[in-house]
Amino acid sequence: MNAEIIAVGSELLTPARIDTNSLWLTAKLNGLGVEVIRKTVVGDERNLLAEAAAAALNRAPLLLITGGLGPTEDDVTREAVAQALKRRLLFSEEILKGIEERFRRLGRKMAPNNRRQAFLVEGAMPLPNPHGTAPGQWLDLPGGMIVLLPGPPRELEPMFENHCLPLLRERLPQAFIRTRFFRVAGMGESDLDNRIAPIYKPYGNPVTTILAAEGDVQIHLRARGATEQEAEALAEELGAKILAELGDSVYSTDGTPLEAVVGRAVLARGETVAVAESCTAGLLAARLTEAPGASGWFAGGFVVYGETMKTKLLGLDEALVKQHGVVSEAVAVAMAESARDRTGATYALSITGEAGPEVSTPGMEPGTVWIGLAAPSEASARLYRFPTGRERVRRYAVQTALHLLWRKLKAS
Ligand code: ATP
Repeated sequence: MNAEIIAVGSELLTPARIDTNSLWLTAKLNGLGVEVIRKTVVGDERNLLAEAAAAALNRAPLLLITGGLGPTEDDVTREAVAQALKRRLLFSEEILKGIEERFRRLGRKMAPNNRRQAFLVEGAMPLPNPHGTAPGQWLDLPGGMIVLLPGPPRELEPMFENHCLPLLRERLPQAFIRTRFFRVAGMGESDLDNRIAPIYKPYGNPVTTILAAEGDVQIHLRARGATEQEAEALAEELGAKILAELGDSVYSTDGTPLEAVVGRAVLARGETVAVAESCTAGLLAARLTEAPGASGWFAGGFVVYGETMKTKLLGLDEALVKQHGVVSEAVAVAMAESARDRTGATYALSITGEAGPEVSTPGMEPGTVWIGLAAPSEASARLYRFPTGRERVRRYAVQTALHLLWRKLKAS
């Protein structure tokens, strides 16, 4: 089944507040096999909301609206939904009693405005709200359902868990979701999509999503089925085709990040890794140590940002640095070899480049990075030209260095 979510509140249209309710609800709905096909944010304006609700109901049989159930004039959800459905709002003495009771319990005087919260859209079932005054509302319609939920997450979440989930379970055809989460390095998003779009496009189910970050592309597959087996078979069928196409470029089939995949492989071989970093100044070491248990395989590293540190700390030959320049193949190789030899690690990675925006070597483009890899008996370096932007270059460099080591481990 498909669903839409409307988050109501003018504050959600400002930079100050984010609609997190719809993310939370989407996770819950996905767990029931419901696909969210559209999310909308609407300010506290009755006509706009009525329009959005009517349009959403035309597209999806399940509509969840969060917020706008408060007591004030700008809380317009009840009125807007009644307008969209061409139904009346009916006053409920019982709900009013509950609200009055809540105020008594809290030792507070109820404002006349709170009576507004005792109106139900004709035909709606109230959903209890022990954490606030506004009840939610559940409407079964000929072709679907509308659920009105309060805006504050501490009210919405228990209301959804305790009252909506059971109602949804009764009404939804049973559906199961199975997912696949692949991660790919060493390939850009568009190259990757060119290769796999012909494979996933013919499938409406599973749904394929591609997310890209610097040097890392994630592929998410979500398969729906009436049984667990059906969902699993669909996820497996498409997943296997994509894996066959991408082969070695997929470094993780369960979402594990690259540093953890590398760490696992190094640890399994009883080996260790060290680093020597110039323009990334420790980012690679930080990334490697994000992997739990890194102490079992990460030896340590050198931050050799300035030229002097490259010669003093790593012992690089001054003449070699002068002759080739700090951003060069020879220096990248020497940095990796020295880091390996000085730490006694099995492998060492080195990074030296121009992160920009200024360049220290005249004529060199920002984004030019040499990445070196020293293995037990050989060392080499490769030249990369990453898209510019200081942070982007540094993140690309780190991801690419990790990928280089991963490829080496796989090949040997
Ligand atoms: P209230 O009785 O508090 O007025 P309400 O149902 O009318 O409840 P809103 O007034 O729309 O809800 O929102 C109250 C607060 O709840 C907001 O200030 C915000 O902090 C939070 N909130 C509302 N909508 C969302 C949302 N979509 N995501 C996250 N937080 C939200």
